[in-house]
Amino acid sequence: MINKKRLIKTFTDLVKIDSESRNEIDVAVYIKNKLKKLGIKYKIDNSNKSTGSNHGNIIAKLGNRKNIPTILLSSHMDTVTNGIGIKPKVTKTSVTSDGTTILGADDKSGLSIILETLEVLKTKKIKHYNIEAAITTCEEIGLLGAKHLDYSLINAKEGIVLDSTSPERLVYKGPSSDYFTIEIVGVEAHSGINPDKGISSIVASSEIISKMKTGRINSRTTINIGKISGGSAINIVPGKTEIMCEIRSHSEKTIKIELNKIKKIIQKLNTKYKKINKKFNAKIKTNRIYDSIDIPKNSLIIKNILKTCKEFKYKVDLVETFGGADANFFVKNGVDTVNLGTGMREFHTVKEKLILKEFFQSANIVINSLIIKD
Ligand SMILES: [Zn+2]
Repeated sequence: MINKKRLIKTFTDLVKIDSESRNEIDVAVYIKNKLKKLGIKYKIDNSNKSTGSNHGNIIAKLGNRKNIPTILLSSHMDTVTNGIGIKPKVTKTSVTSDGTTILGADDKSGLSIILETLEVLKTKKIKHYNIEAAITTCEEIGLLGAKHLDYSLINAKEGIVLDSTSPERLVYKGPSSDYFTIEIVGVEAHSGINPDKGISSIVASSEIISKMKTGRINSRTTINIGKISGGSAINIVPGKTEIMCEIRSHSEKTIKIELNKIKKIIQKLNTKYKKINKKFNAKIKTNRIYDSIDIPKNSLIIKNILKTCKEFKYKVDLVETFGGADANFFVKNGVDTVNLGTGMREFHTVKEKLILKEFFQSANIVINSLIIKD
């Protein structure tokens, strides 16, 4: 049912259009032209006011039949760097870049599959679910497009994001994620003349770090110290240091427990140094990045995808991920969204690759899972 040649053409067309985050406008124009040609209606939301992109999210609709569920399809228009001047190389089995840039299969493989799905379902006049395609911006810089999407334009209660590696992986569970900053205010002093009057915020931060558990905390939780900054000059006992961290977990309870452990370490440090100088202060600030996803196995979308894979004898596993995706925000806004792989590999590197067999398989799964077979 899919047109493989057309699918590859759409993909190579899309990757040749530069669209690093916040500069999605040219890809948006390509997509809008394609939708216009197909006679598919779409709207642009005002998310660009919040994301800082030069274009909003595109929300296209195909089918408006009553008493039929609406399914959301989604992928993102933006790429990471270095994504300027991509020259795709197509072989019999895969597509790669010329080795100097990323390929942009993340997530233009997903975009191509959505456009192919809309074209097939629109032109072949097959009975299908109502479809809403949410084509987002700024995914790579904190899921901003999905975060600020105008959800009043979305009716779907279930959906598929196409933004993962192999179509043999159907992601139905993902973690919540918080970022937290530990700010340590020490006491500045001249390092040579009166070091004993100072309290080094860098030394104090190392005491916190040495007591923190990081990396894989348990099978469902990770903690990372990603960035540290502090001090001002080599002859000054440093007054301020910041430690920037992230925690991800499939369990909200574990997030609370682990953050509490860190808070206790900070408390102890405050008690120790405040005795020496009351100005010393360490504190933690936490912020939610995204909420977890946990899609019921008996949802329409999972049942349809599993049925399609059985029909075509495709291997497929329901898997948990440790990554975040636009799906996290769709779920938060009431759309139970799974994430299906598109055949992309080694994304965010110059070795990025699209495996064609898997690309076609993913497109076939999506189209067939949206057809209503009586
Ligand atoms: Zn992506």
